[in-house]
Amino acid sequence: MNLIEHFVGGKKFSGNSKRLGKVFNPATGEQTSEVKLASKIDLNKTAEIALAAFENWSNKPPLQRARVLFKFKELIEKNSDELTKLIVSEHGKVFEDAKGSLTRGLEVVEYACGIPQMLKGEFTENVGTNVDSWSIRQPLGVCAGITPFNFPAMVPMWMFPMAIACGNTFILKPSEKDPSCSVRLAELFSEAGLPDGVLNIVNGDKEVVDAIIENKNISAVSFVGSTPIAKYIYENCAKNEKRVQALGGAKNHCVVMPDCDLDQAVNGLMGAAYGSAGERCMAQSVAVAVGSIGDKLVENLSKKVEALKVGPGMDKKSEMGPLVTNEHLQKVKGYVDLGVKEGANLVVDGRNLKLQGYENGFYMGGCLFDKVKKDMRIYKEEIFGPVLSVVRAKNFEEALNLVNDHEFGNGVSIFTRDGDAGRTFSSKAKIGMVGINIPIPVPMAFHSFGGWKRSLFGDQHMHGPEGVRFYTKLKTITSRWPSGSVTDPEFTMPTMK
Ligand code: NAD
Repeated sequence: MNLIEHFVGGKKFSGNSKRLGKVFNPATGEQTSEVKLASKIDLNKTAEIALAAFENWSNKPPLQRARVLFKFKELIEKNSDELTKLIVSEHGKVFEDAKGSLTRGLEVVEYACGIPQMLKGEFTENVGTNVDSWSIRQPLGVCAGITPFNFPAMVPMWMFPMAIACGNTFILKPSEKDPSCSVRLAELFSEAGLPDGVLNIVNGDKEVVDAIIENKNISAVSFVGSTPIAKYIYENCAKNEKRVQALGGAKNHCVVMPDCDLDQAVNGLMGAAYGSAGERCMAQSVAVAVGSIGDKLVENLSKKVEALKVGPGMDKKSEMGPLVTNEHLQKVKGYVDLGVKEGANLVVDGRNLKLQGYENGFYMGGCLFDKVKKDMRIYKEEIFGPVLSVVRAKNFEEALNLVNDHEFGNGVSIFTRDGDAGRTFSSKAKIGMVGINIPIPVPMAFHSFGGWKRSLFGDQHMHGPEGVRFYTKLKTITSRWPSGSVTDPEFTMPTMK
């Protein structure tokens, strides 16, 4: 059985914990690896190593740090097929989708290569007579990242390239369900010339997360995962005086207006609801059919959902792969059972799908519900699987209220040909990322990613300009070089005269 270890101080690290987790190939249902689950002692040791590496790394000119990132970028490109296969083998998503997610992570590395420009700071000559003032951003120290299973390359790369470019050192705790890609990325960064101890991977579960929260050498924590854990991380990091950003779950709506190009909306929804088996924080899990378009939307969607090609991620014909674990598969199927009990109309039922030759894989087909009501649990809760719920709304206002009343506020989109509806919607939606005729409005690396409401606890979004702000602290220096006579003491607040 393959053993996945930690990567600390530039090399494999076994740690003292004897606890092991199981990693599966979702396509076959087989356990393929065991992963070390670190102890508090392992984490504390790693934090000491990361802290020791901080002095040297933070003192390097940003340009030198950028050069290591350039080399890392090259190595990711060179090894992209291998990295993609690692994602497919532990997460299950289809190869091209996995490759796309790796590319979205790579784009953050590309953005981070511009760090000298981003850390230039601001200077004012003569804030007072012969007094100058300037502001600079300095790194925080050791930062940690805790990431979910659904993007084993992209989400870690929202964090560590930015943190490291800013001069911090980093400890990543990837999802214990699919940790191999993170370990490989750290090896490649090391090969690119990153000094030992700057990027460390510690595998584990709640025990190591709690050790991160309590460790006094760690200054900041970035978290992405489900809302209850995000809230826990946010509250407990704050108690431990850490800077924290904690991104949580989602229930993304797609408002389909009667004037839209229906084919475009249906195709957009298909990719956004069933791509990656719905295991995306930006997946569209609710279609709000406005006015007269409902019946036609459901009819067109149902044909496509029934025709979805479900299969192993490495099969080029597959449009949708398996779910990540059997446990998660059962949870998602349980939600479909619940929706039926709650009285929603299950138009397409994918619960009983079996694939010949892959009977033990964690597959289900796409499911489509119609006439879902806002008090149903299948509407209120995140399902995180290939299940799309259609909710009918009388008009634009009712649709917008649905979006705004929901506890989550990650992403939303509207399909319309009416510029006024699109503009009003983007302005009034209480949501962090809005798409107009764009089903999955994931911001590019040079913007920033994050939701509102219970989809993000904290102040800053991830990567882009917000990433630089999160991973640095501001210092403002005011200076005077007096010459001539000594000035008298001043006991009043200095002001501009
Ligand atoms: P999760 O919350 O179960 O796990 C996330 C991380 O927290 C993992 O590293 C896990 O080991 C750790 N963790 C789990 N339980 C813990 C506990 N009790 N105490 C401390 N740490 C714990 O999430 P997941 O199932 O891996 O990922 C899916 C979730 O992530 C979905 O809710 C999805 O919406 C969300 N997500 C959000 C975004 C976003 O940008 N908002 C992006 C991707 C995923």
